[in-house]
Amino acid sequence: MSFKSLGLSDPLLKAIAKKGYTNPSPIQEKAIPVVLERKDILASAQTGTGKTAGFTLPMLEILTSHSKWKRRPIRALVLTPTRELAAQIYDNVRAYSEYVDIRSAVIFGGVKAKPQIATLRSGVDILIATPGRLIDLHSQKALSLARIEILVLDEADRMLDMGFKRDLDKIMSLMPDKRQNLLFSATFSKEIKALASGILQEPVLVEA
Ligand code: AMP
Repeated sequence: MSFKSLGLSDPLLKAIAKKGYTNPSPIQEKAIPVVLERKDILASAQTGTGKTAGFTLPMLEILTSHSKWKRRPIRALVLTPTRELAAQIYDNVRAYSEYVDIRSAVIFGGVKAKPQIATLRSGVDILIATPGRLIDLHSQKALSLARIEILVLDEADRMLDMGFKRDLDKIMSLMPDKRQNLLFSATFSKEIKALASGILQEPVLVEA
């Protein structure tokens, strides 16, 4: 199996080659074609499986395949529990989007909001965020989630463990109902299943 046969186009293949990847990992092989079909997924995947590229690559493929916007609204949102994970995903998104016309940004708490607000104002296609800072900047009207097409919940189990359930519910209410949802979790507790059934529509189950 090659990345090309999964349906990714040349600018993404070039970025993948630059990273030095020769073959997709199992989670990438399973997730990428399903995401490209615009289906919701419920994925069980630990860190280290290549899950970040598993959602980022098809997300970039979808976002670059159509765009009717002159000014960039945020079209994809990646929610993650910690600033470390957010920063790591952002680095990945930047690397994979090197040869496409996509701008990304990362926001998390514990640092000044002002530079983050300035970046958001300049126009961002993909936002990686922790829930608290996202809600904070939304309430300051520094961003809108009204044009979200793709939502990724990464490490959803850790987000629930950290007490983000209410924040997640609030964030869901700020986005259009018609969107694609990708949920990644290492474990599947009752709480995760309830969260998933409230958010995902006919999800395809994907296991690493
Ligand atoms: P992740 O599980 O997304 O945190 O990725 C774990 C590590 O695997 C990261 O350092 C990635 O750069 C790397 N990686 C992701 N996909 C591949 C691949 N197809 N081939 C080799 N390494 C990869």
